Amino acid sequence: MAELNLILLGPPGAGKGTQAERITEDFNLPYIATGNILRAAVAEGTELGLKAKGYMDAGALVPDEVIIGVILDRLQESDAQDGFLLDGFPRTVPQAEALGAELKELGRELTAVLLIDVSDDEVVRRLSGRRVSAKTGRVYHVEFDPPKREGVCDVDGSRLIQRDDDKPETIRNRLSVYHESTEPLVGYYTEEGVLRRFDGERPPAEVHDHIRAQIATLRLEDRL
Ligand code: ADP
Ligand code: ADP
Repeated sequence: MAELNLILLGPPGAGKGTQAERITEDFNLPYIATGNILRAAVAEGTELGLKAKGYMDAGALVPDEVIIGVILDRLQESDAQDGFLLDGFPRTVPQAEALGAELKELGRELTAVLLIDVSDDEVVRRLSGRRVSAKTGRVYHVEFDPPKREGVCDVDGSRLIQRDDDKPETIRNRLSVYHESTEPLVGYYTEEGVLRRFDGERPPAEVHDHIRAQIATLRLEDRL
């Protein structure tokens, strides 16, 4: 079967994590989310975590030389050999170039870059109401996707928290970082012919239907 090598692209709060949970289940792909990897490293106090923390707290990007090696190594692990879903990487053109070079060397290529499009105003609404399970990473929204019991994860009853970087000043900084450093990837991947755009302002189930249908089509085309 053809590999599904997928990237989720979009501003912070677009719904990448929300969609990833569904897509990885549909297509049985390993989920590689740089934000989760970095937060785990910070929590464990590893060398990576110590390097990353200050940037993350400020809503800035961790330097390319810190993150690129970590992700390229992760892609070498056995579960990622038949496909992967990357979320939060690449976030800069140099990261995209490094990923492209690595895949090329391995004789692999990207299947699609899934861009989830939402306006800045919607990003602010979403991130200010986002709550996450500190334990499982499962994402909720106080208004758009509330847990059954306030402040508690539906899945395992763990406590829901607000991420430090989901505070108003940091949200604005992350948005401007997105426009300046990450949005150029839209043009980059359009030129490579792999960009697929989705209206992220639709309800989560609808966004998911569109993405799933698109991936199914790409798979079918690949087999023809
Ligand atoms: P969101 O889910 O809101 O888009 P993430 O969880 O992906 O945010 O990222 C949180 C933070 O981790 C970012 O603000 C940034 O500091 C850091 N980070 C994540 N991925 C990368 C990356 N590819 N390059 C540099 N920094 C990153
Ligand atoms: P990202 O991973 O892109 O930063 P998340 O998946 O964490 O985004 O979603 C950000 C917030 O918006 C969460 O609180 C989530 O519950 C909510 N959300 C996600 N998708 C939608 C949607 N389509 N409509 C409304 N709210 C959404």
